[in-house]
Amino acid sequence: MSELVLTLAAAQGRSTGTWHAVELHRSPSEVDGACEVAVCGALARVDLDQVWDGADEDSCESCADLVS
Ligand SMILES: [Zn+2]
Repeated sequence: MSELVLTLAAAQGRSTGTWHAVELHRSPSEVDGACEVAVCGALARVDLDQVWDGADEDSCESCADLVS
């Protein structure tokens, strides 16, 4: 049985500025700056310079619930 490693990236919503969590299924170099669907379903632009932190006050509560 292989262990599933979930890689989460931080992505910022285009209109709201809220940070969402995005599951990375590709290598990070391919997703930087790309719009991805966050775990809550929102569209957000991946920023690999940021680290997803569900406890941050700018973070999406739905994403925080889904990945915790
Ligand atoms: Zn979200």
